[in-house]
Amino acid sequence: MDQTANQAAAATAPAIDLSSVEAIKDQLRSFMVHSVGVDPDFASQRDWLYALAQLVRGRLSEEYLATARAQYDADARRVYYLSMEYLTGRSLLKHLYDLGVHDRVAEALKDMGQSLEAIQEFEYDAALGNGGLGRLAACYLDSMATHGYPGFGYGIRYEFGMFTQRVEGGQQVEHPETWLRYGNPWEFERPNVIYPVRFRGRLTHFKNETGETVTQWVDTTDVIAMAYDVPVPGYGSGKVVKLRLWSARATRDFDLRYFNEGNYIDAVKDKTISENLSKVLYPMDTTLMGQELRLMQEYFFVSASLQDIIARHHRKHASLDTLPEKVTIQLNDTHPSLAVPELMRLLIDHYDYDFQKAWDLTREVFNYTNHTLLPEALETWPIAMLEAVLPRHLDLIYKINFDFLQQVKYAFPGQPDVLSRMSLIDDAGRRVRMAHLCVVGSRRVNGVAALHTDLMRAHVFADFNRMEPDKFVNVTNGVTQRRWLLQANRPLADLITEAIGEGWKTDLSRLKDLEPLADDSAFRERFAAIKRANKQRFAGMVRDRTGFEIAPDMMFDTQIKRMHEYKRQLLNVLHVITLYNDLRNGRGGDRIPRAVTFGGKAAPGYFMAKLIIRLINDVAMVINHDRSIRDRLKVAFVPNYNVSAAEIIIPGTDLSEQISTAGTEASGTGNMKFALNGALTIGTLDGANIEIKNAVGDDNIFIFGKTADEVGDMRAGGYHPREYYDTNEALRNAVDMIAGGFFNADDPDRYLPIRDTLLSGGDHFFLMADYQSYIETQAQVEAVYADQDAWMRKAIVNVANMGGFSSDRSIHSYAKDIWRVQPVA
Ligand SMILES: *Cc1c(COP(=O)(O)O)cnc(C)c1O
Repeated sequence: MDQTANQAAAATAPAIDLSSVEAIKDQLRSFMVHSVGVDPDFASQRDWLYALAQLVRGRLSEEYLATARAQYDADARRVYYLSMEYLTGRSLLKHLYDLGVHDRVAEALKDMGQSLEAIQEFEYDAALGNGGLGRLAACYLDSMATHGYPGFGYGIRYEFGMFTQRVEGGQQVEHPETWLRYGNPWEFERPNVIYPVRFRGRLTHFKNETGETVTQWVDTTDVIAMAYDVPVPGYGSGKVVKLRLWSARATRDFDLRYFNEGNYIDAVKDKTISENLSKVLYPMDTTLMGQELRLMQEYFFVSASLQDIIARHHRKHASLDTLPEKVTIQLNDTHPSLAVPELMRLLIDHYDYDFQKAWDLTREVFNYTNHTLLPEALETWPIAMLEAVLPRHLDLIYKINFDFLQQVKYAFPGQPDVLSRMSLIDDAGRRVRMAHLCVVGSRRVNGVAALHTDLMRAHVFADFNRMEPDKFVNVTNGVTQRRWLLQANRPLADLITEAIGEGWKTDLSRLKDLEPLADDSAFRERFAAIKRANKQRFAGMVRDRTGFEIAPDMMFDTQIKRMHEYKRQLLNVLHVITLYNDLRNGRGGDRIPRAVTFGGKAAPGYFMAKLIIRLINDVAMVINHDRSIRDRLKVAFVPNYNVSAAEIIIPGTDLSEQISTAGTEASGTGNMKFALNGALTIGTLDGANIEIKNAVGDDNIFIFGKTADEVGDMRAGGYHPREYYDTNEALRNAVDMIAGGFFNADDPDRYLPIRDTLLSGGDHFFLMADYQSYIETQAQVEAVYADQDAWMRKAIVNVANMGGFSSDRSIHSYAKDIWRVQPVA
């Protein structure tokens, strides 16, 4: 169909009508029959979910087509967000709020004897991500759609997303999450949108008629990337961003060779091998996985996305010379870094550009977000593997590096050590440094919080920063208030709207108008009542998932995030044990009753993270069953932390634990969600905690521990964790109880590795150094909590000052400083 015919078709399609309860009911029945194929009188709750999702998807499709047409007509410069991960969670309620029909749909369902609250539970979380990085991508698409930016997301449609975590015998057990079992009701399958992606093969070189050497990549093994489109609507904007996820298919001629040999079964077997490419998400957060399948996944999605971007450009422009005017691409971490040599390959091998011109275009198109400075998380790929899987890309990386090092030589004459530090190839000559490739191939490089960007400029990219200082910018992360306040905490959202109007939903800085209400006792009481009801709901989840009872009059102290040593869940455990000892020894008379909850998944091969999960469960078992402390302390590990769990846990929390070693958490976004929902933070001067502290004021946050500078000095100048153990009795007791089998008499040596990392293994994350400061600060927390009026005042001041932590602010900043794009009307 040509463009005019398309327009005519869309214009004449009968529109979905969500304008009245009656219209919604009629169409729900119709979708139940025509789309789900079930008699409405006998439909299950899941059937109703699918009928409703189809109805809503129809409206989103209308809005998407209108959005796309407007962008096409305006020939708008577009932003492409390339991310291996999107941690979306459920979509139904989100979409209903975006369309402004939540209450109407709830009423329609009620009339039909159904409950929106009940049926939405049947939706699977879309968990195509590990943690913060994937969740950030989801928040950013939401903000782009809400504010009308011409954005477009690319990723992988993993058949198995993040695993489901169960706790069996106190230990994490991973189970595959078959989220597509009943089909994904939001996606549109696009069997026509397919691209070949090539692997392996070899290079041949020959001279063309003008005498230049031409390289050809031949004898490749090919896989087909097929598109699935997921609409991501904005809030009240009528705009929809498309998230295009690639699924691997065997090529249609996969079987010719076998068929000729009459070997039908082997042909089909071969087919499943190529389709493995999009099978599973690697469940590692900030640790590397050097496996070939992962490298192939990275290239697969990057190659398909670039081919698709170029095809879209060609619909309106004959030449790729204008690509940088019309296209800007954001690389979410180094996972899509092969986009840089892939665009070079396409320009040179398919569109006849020479190397220099191709390089000039490429460097204007890409931008790169760095998400971590942890050495174990910086991606490098073995040259031998690249040579086997992507020989043409390795060849181009060598050329890029040669060219780049010439410029380094010119910029830093007589400094040969700079060359080896900045090279795209590591010192041993065996691996490619993907972060260097991204920096060299990008126009802008951003960190994700002020401290992180400073550290990035001062350390890992110091040489690059000297060479091109304007390349490095900061864009602090943000979260979407539509999911993390409006949807997750409707009672608080309604209270806020009643007090200051609804402008905050698309302009979070308006929350500032709440600040005076911190001194209004009637407002504080209503705020406190909402917190209490949310705590009740959270307690219900803890009961369902762990069997433990926690009571809403306790202080709800929560640490939910991926399990990682740098995030220091173990420091929290040391505090819990210290508290327990105080209570047991009669020193806890006036202590505030606390419920300490943990949640988070460990990478399946991460021994220490899994051991800490087990420790938490052992500690919980002993403390929760110790009658001598009655109900003054409870500990729980809530299994299977994910977006849907976060939506219940965060609004029901009093105290948010953000206690990473200073200099290790690039930004954090969990910290923002909690403060936005009226939790107070206990945290280190790390990541965005610093900016949260500056926003809410020193009196409204609990800061402890060494600064990033102090940690850096200690790392350099000799740190002796054992001295803290020798001189601090409470700390010594806690460590000895863990190591001595106090919580696990059945197997007393189980936690010796924990003592060893702390005392003889160097305590890499400075738990021993920060322990005393943490304990003292926790005591200050209790002193404030004892005065509930004072606590609620601070909580309200926190909410009022979270305006800067919306992903809307982040997106406006990317649009202006990095992407140079405008909203399309
Ligand atoms: C926000 C979020 C994260 C990131 O949390 P941090 O505390 O910033 O590490 C991880 N997982 C889920 C499900 C989230 O919603």
